Amino acid sequence: MNQSLTLALSKGRIFDETLPLLEAAGIKVTDDPEKSRKLILPTSDPAIRVVIVRASDVPTYVQYGAADFGVAGKDVLLEHGGEGLYQPVDLNIAKCRMSVAVSAGFDYASAVRQGARLRVATKYLKVAREHFAAKGVHVDLIKLYGSMELGPLVGLSDAIVDLVSTGSTLRANHLVEVEQIMDISSRLVVNRAALKTKREKLQPIIEAFERAARSE
Ligand code: ATP
Ligand code: MG
Repeated sequence: MNQSLTLALSKGRIFDETLPLLEAAGIKVTDDPEKSRKLILPTSDPAIRVVIVRASDVPTYVQYGAADFGVAGKDVLLEHGGEGLYQPVDLNIAKCRMSVAVSAGFDYASAVRQGARLRVATKYLKVAREHFAAKGVHVDLIKLYGSMELGPLVGLSDAIVDLVSTGSTLRANHLVEVEQIMDISSRLVVNRAALKTKREKLQPIIEAFERAARSE
C-alpha cells in the first residue's frame, strides 16, 4: 500500500503557522517558499512532501486527492463548500474575523434602517449573501479577487466584506468595521478516501496536530 503523503499549504501566514504543528508531528520543512520557486517541497520524512498552492485552491487539491491533506482558512472552506473533505481539527492558527466595513463617512446603520439597497464588494460571495439575507438587507454583491478595501474609496461599493485582524489596513484606508460576521481560523482538511487508505500514516499526524493546536 502506498503510504506517501502530499500536504497542500499556501505561502505566508498559513505556511508559517503550520511549521510548528509539523514539527510537533516530527516533520521538518527546510525550504522557504518565499525564497524558493519550488512548488513541491520535500520534508525530513521522505514519504511526505508539501505542495505550495493558492490559499483558495487548497480545498480543491485535497478534494480531488492531488493532496491528501492541507490547511485552509474557514473563509476559504465556506466558499468552497467542503465537499469531499474531512475537517477533523480546528488548528487555531491564522486567526482573524470576517467583517463588514464601510467608508468612515458612510452611515451604515441608517442605510440599513431605511432599507437601502447596498453595493457590497467582496471575495466571499457565499458568506456575504447569507449574512445580508439573514439580516433582511438587500445587497448587490460585486465579486473581487483582492484589495477589497479599495472598493468604497473609489465608489465601486458602499461596503466590503473582508477579513480583519488588527484593523490597521482598514484604518489606513479610512474604513470602519461596522459588523463582525464570524471568527475565522484555519482547519486541517483531509481527503476522505485518503483518510481510509492512508490511515496508518495520517492518523498520527492528525493526532499530533490536534495536541499541538490545543496547547497553542
Ligand atoms: P492570495 O494572497 O493568494 O490572494 P489570500 O490573500 O487569501 O490569497 P492570505 O492572505 O495568505 O491569502 O490568507 C490565507 C488565509 O489566512 C485566509 O484564507 C485566512 O483564513 C487567513 N487570513 C487572511 N488574512 C488574515 C489576517 N489579516 N489575519 C489572520 N489570518 C488571515
Ligand atoms: Mg493575501
